[in-house]
This record gives sequence, C-alpha cells and structure tokens, in this order.
Amino acid sequence: MNYKAPRGTHDIFRINASRMSWLEQKAKVIFNRHGFEEVRTPAFEDAALFMRSIGQTTDIVEKEMYIFEDRKKRKLALRPEGTASLVRAFIEHRMDVSMPAGRFFYMGEMFRYERPQAGRYRQFHQIGAEFFGSSSPAADAEIIILAQDLLSSVGINKMNIYINSLGCEKCRPFFREALVKYLDSVRDLCEDCLRRLEKNPLRVLDCKTDSNKFTEVPRMSDYLCDCCKDNFNLTQSLLKSDGCNYTVDERLVRGLDYYTKTVFEIRSDAVGSQDALAAGGRYDNLIGELGGQDTPAVGFALGSERVLLAAQKTGFFDSFQESEKIFIAVADQELFSEAFSFALKAMRNGLKGNKNISVFGPVNGKSLTSQLKFADKIKAVKTIVFARTEFEDGKFLVKNMKDKTQTKVLISEF
Ligand code: AMP
Repeated sequence: MNYKAPRGTHDIFRINASRMSWLEQKAKVIFNRHGFEEVRTPAFEDAALFMRSIGQTTDIVEKEMYIFEDRKKRKLALRPEGTASLVRAFIEHRMDVSMPAGRFFYMGEMFRYERPQAGRYRQFHQIGAEFFGSSSPAADAEIIILAQDLLSSVGINKMNIYINSLGCEKCRPFFREALVKYLDSVRDLCEDCLRRLEKNPLRVLDCKTDSNKFTEVPRMSDYLCDCCKDNFNLTQSLLKSDGCNYTVDERLVRGLDYYTKTVFEIRSDAVGSQDALAAGGRYDNLIGELGGQDTPAVGFALGSERVLLAAQKTGFFDSFQESEKIFIAVADQELFSEAFSFALKAMRNGLKGNKNISVFGPVNGKSLTSQLKFADKIKAVKTIVFARTEFEDGKFLVKNMKDKTQTKVLISEF
C-alpha cells in the first residue's frame, strides 16, 4: 500500500524547511524587540472554545473545523487559529488578574477543512501576536506596523493594507439595523447570505458572490460612536506618522466574530487568488466573554506559507547562499579515526573560519570510488581525502568535485 500525506497537507523539507525556520527566526527577533514573549499552546482544545470565540455562524465553525471525540467522549478540535487558545491560556493562568497586560506571540500549525488550492491548505502555519490590556489606538497602530515590518523583513515591500472599524457594542447595533433593512431590499441573495442575514448580517458584506449587488450599502463610518470614531482617527494618524500606506475598506468585516473596532488585512498581488498574507484586529470583549476579567486586546496572524510564496516571488531568496557541502573521505581505512576526528572538528568550528559549511563525515568499509560517488550524489563542493602517502607528509587531498582537480594541502593549514 502506498501512503500519501492527507489532502491539503504537505511535507516541508530542504530549502522550504530552511526558509520556514528562517522566517520564524526573523519573526522572533522582531517580536522580542516589541516586547512580545513566546507562548506555545496545545494543537487541540475543547471544541466549544473555538465555537464560542470564533462564532457559530462563521465559515470556520460551520464548515472547517476538525472536530473529534477522544476515548472519553470529550469533544475536541484541532486549532483553526491561535487567538482563542492564547486567550484561554491567559485566563486559565489568571494572567488577566495578576498582570492584566501582556504581549505574546506564537507560531505553529493550524487546521481548517478548506478546499485546497495554491496558498490554501488544510494544515498550514501561522505566526501571530496578541497584545492584551491596552485599549489605546497606539496598540492597534503598533500591531498593524508590526505585521507590515515582518512582511518587509522578508522583502515584501509591495503590499496593500486595508483597515476598517467595526464599531463597538454601543454603535454596531445601529449599523446592523440599517444594514439588515438595506439587505432586505436586495433581491436574489445567495443561500449563504440569506442564512447570515438572520444570524450575522455583517458577514454578508464579505460574500464573494453577492458583494457587487451592494451598491447603496450603509457605511459603518456613518454609525460609529464618538469614541470609536476618535479611536479610528487616532489609529490612522499614528499609521500615517510612520509613513504606513493603507486604504480604508468599509466592507472589510473579517471572518471571525470576536472583532470590535479596528480590523485590518494585508494583501499582496504577488500571490494568486489567496492574496491575504496577514490579518487581525481588536477584540475587546473576548477575554470577558470567555470568563476572564474584561481586558481589551488586539492581535494579528500571518500565514507563513503565503508569506514565503510572496517573498519568493519578489526574488528575496535568490541571493541566499546555501551552505557548502564538504565530504570527508578515506582512501586508506587505517586513517578512518583521524578522518573522523577531523570531520568532527570541522563540524564544530567550520573550515578555515568558514562556518557556512555542512560536513559529511567518512563512511567506513567503502572503497574510495564509492565514497566519491556518494559525494557527487549529495552534491558536495569539495571532498577532503585522507590518503596514507600524503598523510605521512602531514597533508590531505582536496578534490574539487566540479572540475575533479585535486591539490595537496597541509592539514595544519585548516
Ligand atoms: P485568519 O486567521 O483567517 O485571519 O488568517 C490569517 C492568515 O492566515 C491569512 O491572511 C492567511 O495568510 C493565512 N491562512 C488562513 N487560512 C489559510 C489556509 N487554509 N491555508 C494557508 N494559509 C491560510
């Protein structure tokens, strides 16, 4: 029987694995500079946590969660996103009470049962940050700029940043009422929209099928209360003061129910139809709704696969130098332990100070020909051969695997 990775999942190896770690490393440095500390939460949680936080009428909860029962009939779900888990951890460890402020980041696999296509997978990686305890628009601006800086750090300088304000529990009901009234007058809404109109009318604005029908749709900005308006204005002026280029998109509602006030999405033309690289926003009620002490919060997540795809399209990785492969061979087996010690030294210290090398130690019991064949197979740049005659003069042979020339070099020189 031939086994294959499940549909929508993929193995990440070689250059793609290095790029993924590289992106994560880069993100860690940037997060640390902004005072965010790492949190690792479980890959699965109580399914109810996601249903409650993300929202019953969202695509994620309606269609995309991997839900299963364990042997004790507990209903669990593979995490479809990171925020709910971080909020759960924040409350569970009583950080909402002991230090009602905190900046956390996470990175890891997320799971959504979506139709796979380029840039959309069933298991994918997100890198995200959550800023708990600040209701200041400065936190919103910092989170948007942080996401932007992270993308710029991997060479993505052309990006489109869309922002919107969804208002708060005071002003949103008035917008909702006006929206429902308007949508009731729109003919031929698709089935999804009709269903959402009942339960979650804001999500109708997100509909790919019907959105071109909403020509006279009410604008959230006309309904924002003074506080939400001031917050949104200050967020924008802080973004402007940093030279951030953004567009206000009044149709941006995001696919998760917990958002309040500022929401944003960053897209890139460099990737295909799945063009959203990062997204996030404020969710001031979620911590309270999940049983914690009321704590304002704002956060974002980026999709690592899409970001790496966009970075690759910009040519960012073209100049990346892979480490040089060096193979250590033995022409005479009695020199095996000397060759092995030399290989270990090179692994630890590099060769002649060059640390950007990968060293492949000697293989015992193989002829030199088969060792050299192996060196070719792994695409070694050089093979260092330990041979009796040269060794007696304190030397070894350095074979250039491209042009097959070889020179005798003093071992002490290395
Ligand atoms: P969300 O949690 O839906 O706000 O998504 C945040 C980011 O995660 C998106 O902007 C994408 O870059 C990425 N993302 C979301 N869903 C997927 C998926 N199924 N496959 C790959 N990346 C995804």
